[in-house]
Amino acid sequence: MTNLFLVPTVNPRARENFERTIRQRVPLADLSGLTPASLAAARSVRGGVWAWGTKPGRNDINVRTWSAMARGDWVLFYFDGMFPFCGRVVVREHSPAVAKRLWGEDGGQTWEYLYLLDAVRQVDIPRQPLNERLDYELDSYPRGFARVNRNLGDAPGSVEQLLEELSGEGHQLRLAIEAAKAGNEMEAATALDRLGSELSMEQLRREIDAFASSEPPKSRKRLVESLERNRKLVAKLKKLYEGKCQCCGFTFMQNNGHPYCEAAHLKPMARREANIDVKDNIFILCPNHHKRLDYGGMSIEFDAVKKKLYAVIDGRRKQMENRHIGI
Ligand SMILES: [Zn+2]
Repeated sequence: MTNLFLVPTVNPRARENFERTIRQRVPLADLSGLTPASLAAARSVRGGVWAWGTKPGRNDINVRTWSAMARGDWVLFYFDGMFPFCGRVVVREHSPAVAKRLWGEDGGQTWEYLYLLDAVRQVDIPRQPLNERLDYELDSYPRGFARVNRNLGDAPGSVEQLLEELSGEGHQLRLAIEAAKAGNEMEAATALDRLGSELSMEQLRREIDAFASSEPPKSRKRLVESLERNRKLVAKLKKLYEGKCQCCGFTFMQNNGHPYCEAAHLKPMARREANIDVKDNIFILCPNHHKRLDYGGMSIEFDAVKKKLYAVIDGRRKQMENRHIGI
């Protein structure tokens, strides 16, 4: 079974270590002193490895956790209220000498229970969805180095798949926040839509707070308000069209009992007229027509006099359902 370990990297010394050996790879020369087998494992990683380590902790609590680590397990680093980075365990070895060389000492101790990682990357996983998947309290966060004590599935790659799914949520959240910061409300609205309706507004608000923790409170409040407003707008429009594609009328019933549709926005229009009404730039579409609008073969035209909306698909004009634009 593949394990997942949570690694809080909150205090200043831990963050310093993070900058040294997770933001960047470790030169092989700095690892000399490890066993030949460990060095061979490090050498086998193309491009080089990253390194992390833990102090023994009170009553050696961290040593027990560390001993459970095996090649192929995953670690998730925690700071700034979320899980920004993950990595995969290549090898672990107890080595005070190498730890001192990499990170120095702190209060007479060093991070001597070390492990080398590959596949380190930024995932930006929000706290809430991870807690949900692990059946933890929604607000909980790792207070110490810990192994996730849940069976994450025996299938090969199941932990990796979980990280992949959750990092998608983080990515959309980041896009939404960045779009809202830049004042692009439509883009924020559609990024939020892709995040799904599973996340309640309350949860979302907390995630935004965690994601934007470096912002001053006033602009954080503005950010939350703008995202809330846009999420409500999308929900209203979906209701207005009963979840059906404005172009073809397609929808399907989801397991949660709601019809499925997506919020799309017209990028060129947004660029042309900065002050255009947000709702006039959002369309409710099925996944197919949304993709065509984004990737090609489809454009949308609006007849302002007749208040009629047309989709132009492969050169053919087709009237779309219009219950909100110019109305
Ligand atoms: Zn459609």
